[in-house]
Amino acid sequence: MPAKSLDQIVSLSKRRGFIFPGSDIYGGLANTWDYGPLGAELKNRVKRTWWQTFVHGRQDMVGLDASILMNAKVWEASGHVGNFADPLVDCKNCKERTRGDKLIEEKLGVEAAAVLKIEQVQPMLLAEKIPCPKCGKVAWTEAKRFNLMFRTQQGVVEGEGNEIYLRPETAQGIFVNFKNIVDTMRMRLPFGVGQIGKAFRNEITPGNFTFRTREFEQMEIEYFVEPGTEAKYFEEWKDAVWEWFLSFGIAKERLRIREHGADELSHYSSRTIDIEYLFPWGWGELFGLANRADYDLKQHEKFSGQDMKFTDPDDPKKKFLPYVVEPSFGCDRSILTFLLEAYTEEVLENGETRTVMKLDPRLAPYDLAILPLSKKEQLIGKAQELYKRIVQETNLVCDFDITGSIGKRYRRQDEIGTPRAITVDFGTIGEDEKQGERDTVTIRDRDTLKQERLSINELIEKLKR
Ligand code: ATP
Repeated sequence: MPAKSLDQIVSLSKRRGFIFPGSDIYGGLANTWDYGPLGAELKNRVKRTWWQTFVHGRQDMVGLDASILMNAKVWEASGHVGNFADPLVDCKNCKERTRGDKLIEEKLGVEAAAVLKIEQVQPMLLAEKIPCPKCGKVAWTEAKRFNLMFRTQQGVVEGEGNEIYLRPETAQGIFVNFKNIVDTMRMRLPFGVGQIGKAFRNEITPGNFTFRTREFEQMEIEYFVEPGTEAKYFEEWKDAVWEWFLSFGIAKERLRIREHGADELSHYSSRTIDIEYLFPWGWGELFGLANRADYDLKQHEKFSGQDMKFTDPDDPKKKFLPYVVEPSFGCDRSILTFLLEAYTEEVLENGETRTVMKLDPRLAPYDLAILPLSKKEQLIGKAQELYKRIVQETNLVCDFDITGSIGKRYRRQDEIGTPRAITVDFGTIGEDEKQGERDTVTIRDRDTLKQERLSINELIEKLKR
């Protein structure tokens, strides 16, 4: 544990139906990925667990589902039109376009790259003799600012005024709805709003599978607090999120916190930390926590002309713009981390190697697999009956698999991370006492490989618990 290379996960994901290359039959579309049947289950579970923990699990949180398309003024107010840009450099030899700061980061580390001003990027690339990743020459143009927002047109008439953007973050949907939420939900400070949804960034150098794509999903929280209390809540969120990742079995030694230096902070932030994971290619951001102060509400007040202040319900004379602490999760990066961390190759007693995805049971695409030992009609009938009973009497998600030998089916379930497999055999239908008594089944544990024989009624009771 965990995966040693990204290829192990890319290949397992494709082979077992977690993640496929996008537009596959047309030769693909670079850096797009489709979540297959098992990936969709996994993704839904990540989102559901997140929502349960951070929205349903807390009295001080509510949820939101805002539009991807928003009035273009939102992005002027938020600063994205002016500031949301990366330093783009061209190779004078082969015309390859790339992110200058990322090349510097690869050679000199995140800290060195993060503090660079745009005009320092080209001199640094040349001084450090950092070559073009495509042709190997050191011949870079001056860096230009490249805005990452996707632009499109709304409506049937092309032209000025109709231009809109695909949202580059979900956060602004929350700020724009701040008043609506306060007015309808009787919120008292501190309170937060959680949202899960797609975001789009025209990244210059996407890559590393789903780590950096141009379309991705975020799980974001804007937590509104009284000015002066933000430092305390910042610490609370840092701990809560750290614990959340650990609760899925991510090893502490592969997680670290990185504090952004003053020169590196985004235009809206007065303090930011990242939680980073040790990916197969090195440390990379998994999660970001920012103190946005009252930057966004103030900007929206200015640009929309609307009063965005919060009125203290106990003292209506007390009106102010709350400060904001923002925990921002990447859904796809979290999934990639869970997959990498779960990947395990084990040598069994008989010398064979098995690959097993030790996914947290809350995230595994299936809770259970129901496996009739052979294709005999009576066995399949009995197993189908059991499947129906489990679905009706519990809320567990089951796979039903009759294809291939039982050994191969166990191996498949191990590779897709199913925590338990139930085998219906000749004992179950009263035809072989050696296998077990009538109406008993075998339940096999993914991690310990222990098998237990128990009656169907006992099994159902156990599953309900
Ligand atoms: P990076 O420095 O890696 O570009 P960022 O600091 O721009 O990330 P944020 O704006 O803080 O990222 O976004 C919050 C979270 O959204 C990140 O922690 C990450 O998990 C996720 N995220 C951001 N950009 C992408 C992307 N292009 N593809 C997939 N996930 C992303």
